[in-house]
Amino acid sequence: MVIMTFDFARKQTIAIIGGGPGGYEAALAGAQLGADVTLVESTGVGGSAVLTDVVPSKTLIATADAARAIDDAGELGVQFFARGDSGKPLKPEVAINLLAINKRILALAGQQSEDMRERLIEAGVNIISGHGRLEGDDAIVVSTGPDGTDFDRIEADTIIVSVGASPRELPSAKPDGDRVLTWKQMYNMSAVPEHLIVVGSGVTGAEFASAYMNLGAKVTLVSSREQVLPGEDADAARVLEKVFTRGGMTLLAKSRAESVENTGHGVTVTLSDGSTVEGSHCLMAVGGVPNTRDLGLEDAGVQLADSGHIQVNRVGRTSVPNIYAVGDCTNLVPLASVSSMLGRTAVFHAMGDAVIPFAEHKIASNIFTSPEIATVGWTNDAKHSVELKLDLEENPRAKMMGVKDGFVKLYARDTSGTVVGGVVVAPKASELIYPIAMAVERRLTVDQVARVFTAYPSLAGSITDAARAMHGVDERSGS
Ligand SMILES: Cc1cc2nc3c(=O)[nH]c(=O)nc-3n(C[C@H](O)[C@H](O)[C@H](O)COP(=O)(O)OP(=O)(O)OC[C@H]3O[C@@H](n4cnc5c(N)ncnc54)[C@H](O)[C@@H]3O)c2cc1C
Repeated sequence: MVIMTFDFARKQTIAIIGGGPGGYEAALAGAQLGADVTLVESTGVGGSAVLTDVVPSKTLIATADAARAIDDAGELGVQFFARGDSGKPLKPEVAINLLAINKRILALAGQQSEDMRERLIEAGVNIISGHGRLEGDDAIVVSTGPDGTDFDRIEADTIIVSVGASPRELPSAKPDGDRVLTWKQMYNMSAVPEHLIVVGSGVTGAEFASAYMNLGAKVTLVSSREQVLPGEDADAARVLEKVFTRGGMTLLAKSRAESVENTGHGVTVTLSDGSTVEGSHCLMAVGGVPNTRDLGLEDAGVQLADSGHIQVNRVGRTSVPNIYAVGDCTNLVPLASVSSMLGRTAVFHAMGDAVIPFAEHKIASNIFTSPEIATVGWTNDAKHSVELKLDLEENPRAKMMGVKDGFVKLYARDTSGTVVGGVVVAPKASELIYPIAMAVERRLTVDQVARVFTAYPSLAGSITDAARAMHGVDERSGS
């Protein structure tokens, strides 16, 4: 048994490896509680989330949504015309300047990283640029020089590992940054690809497929499973498949990509049944692997799963009491929001502050396709809950906006009527899920949700309508 003793007169010291959402929030929480905090980061504050993953992809999607809105405006009676030399009206084309779009994306991500760095400095966090590695269970060694020859050594009471993950690479489909791309390399392209083949129909694959379809590319989505977004709500996946097919996307279900070759003028994707698909570019979106190799974790006694993920409990603590881990390098859910929350939780726990342990069923998450798909809570517990789904086409605001696809679905406990989960498929579902997340967190019943005023007309009105329609679920179930 390890017995930890603290000298409470001395300032606590915290050393963090990795400055993504987890490390960033951990650093701010530590500084707020009066600790002496050092953050080691090899690339840039904000991490992959800000520099290559969340911020760039969501900025691209904002542009794709704008392009889609221009396309859809005609249905609402908005028409674009220019006068030609003859005075006759001409219909202008919508042009996508991917070079300008990517320039904006990378500048925005860089600025966000800089803003976060300044915020840490203001909070008194000591930032060291370099590659960190554990030395035993109470120190980090950082190689800071360009050739890895200069070293810093930081001893700390508490160590937080938040090193994130990298795109999984298949040996037969090696990304080359030219035509075979990881999601981090998508911003190298100077023009919208003629035909983008997306391998992997999970969240990342679906988001890029949706965005590039709306930017005017021909898109083929290769999915090894029967439905896109495997593991997500089946009704939501069906809506998305309908929208994708209507937009001209080719969906290849139950098709595993065996290899991808850059032919010089395009790509050839060979599927497991021997058939091939030809395209101009291929995005490999087949998941991530944790950046936990050669970090000194095993030598420090930190337990890893076979996948390389660090095993942590619900406050982010590893098998070594003073070493915590948060974010995509752990066995918890790989989301920026979860990483941030755990970063704070880990520091509060290490410093003896009050903590609420992580609960997976309270996570609100969103898939930024068009329409968006947002989920919270227990959505697959058919044994103990009842569900009610309202299609958005019944919602007056949706009709006014020309929204054809989507729904609101609520799940409530059959014994008490307590809201336990929900799914929203709608434009800006990421915003609409918040009241349902609040209901799940505060354990509100469907009647309590139904009593809340929503503005009329509003998409949120479908949430209260669904709750109203569920009045008496507990009585109807006979409990
Ligand atoms: C395309 C894409 C879109 C996504 N969109 C969303 C979204 O919309 N919403 C959402 O919640 N999540 C999203 N995610 C998931 C999200 O990106 C991750 O959950 C999040 O980045 C994890 O944060 P993290 O704290 O683990 O650190 P990361 O953001 O992964 O950063 C880790 C940092 O550690 C640094 N590092 C690694 N090793 C060392 C070392 N040895 N020494 C020093 N520094 C080191 C790296 O340089 C990096 O900066 C998306 C993921 C992808 C791939």
